[in-house]
Amino acid sequence: MQLVCPAGNLPALQAAVDAGADAVYAGFRDQTNARAFPGLNFSDAELRAGIRYAHAKGARVYLALNTYPDSARLALWHAAVDKAAELGADAIIAAEMAVLDYAARTHPSLPRHLSVQGSATTEPALRYAFERFGIARAVLPRVLSIQQVERLCERSPVAIEVFAFGSLCIMVEGRCQLSSYVTGASPNRHGVCSPAKFVRWDEFDDGSRTARLNEVLIDRFQPAEPAGYPTVCKGRFEVGGEVFHALEEPTSLNTLELLPRLAQAGVAAVKIEGRQRGLAYVRGVARTWRAAIDSLRPDAAAWQPRPEWQQSLSAHAEGHQTTLGPYHRAWH
Ligand code: SF4
Repeated sequence: MQLVCPAGNLPALQAAVDAGADAVYAGFRDQTNARAFPGLNFSDAELRAGIRYAHAKGARVYLALNTYPDSARLALWHAAVDKAAELGADAIIAAEMAVLDYAARTHPSLPRHLSVQGSATTEPALRYAFERFGIARAVLPRVLSIQQVERLCERSPVAIEVFAFGSLCIMVEGRCQLSSYVTGASPNRHGVCSPAKFVRWDEFDDGSRTARLNEVLIDRFQPAEPAGYPTVCKGRFEVGGEVFHALEEPTSLNTLELLPRLAQAGVAAVKIEGRQRGLAYVRGVARTWRAAIDSLRPDAAAWQPRPEWQQSLSAHAEGHQTTLGPYHRAWH
């Protein structure tokens, strides 16, 4: 089982590889990937250096080209596919059919992974992407239960990658409209939800802070209360006279306890979310998952995550809380 880690920049790529990532995923410094934050991502020279570094240590580099271009800007995505091939990336991760189609025709030997943004949750959807675009792998959306993942692994014509740790998206990926509703820009087309230019923080005399997105109040934090980056899905809103996290609590997915089941189901790769996170996160989370994967044995039933691994992952989690998210549904 491969460990796939986030690389928001060259130091993060090197830290992930050094901490034991089998592969890292990265993006160009434009809107062709779903983490188009200012100051993040790679220039051509940085990516060339990153690929050289990873390959020298036996790791792979996957290029996320997983946003949805409109027809006027498709040439930018095509150029990104060409560049990924030229720089020697080991695969591209794409969602839009026009991008996958171009890659399959123009660079047939460059492996194609279906992005989580492609939202393929059924065997026919995976089969279509395999037959039409020759995908080698699909990253499943973070909306499936563990039973659904197991069933898909049995029937999938391609290798399956699942998210193992990191921030959650409560919407079926590639279809979230929350950010575009408030700002006119979305992760799907513009590569980021809550683009920084729309975010406004205000601090008050009593130490409390508010976060606004395009002037819409998203959250209010008490003095010393930890505050995360404001996204609509994790804001606190007044509903029925009560103010609470009406859509989603700020918490991180952590599937460590499911690792034996994922391995047994034949999941080919586990992915760590977080290209926007810092070096300490990448290093710490990658190290923990490396140790956990390496400790798996054929008698996986007897395997338990070590308490110190869970503590370390909780320390890197949003709001220091973790959840199994949709993997576990009590009613299933
Ligand atoms: S607003 Fe929330 S649910 Fe929507 S894409 Fe962003 S993180 Fe995901």
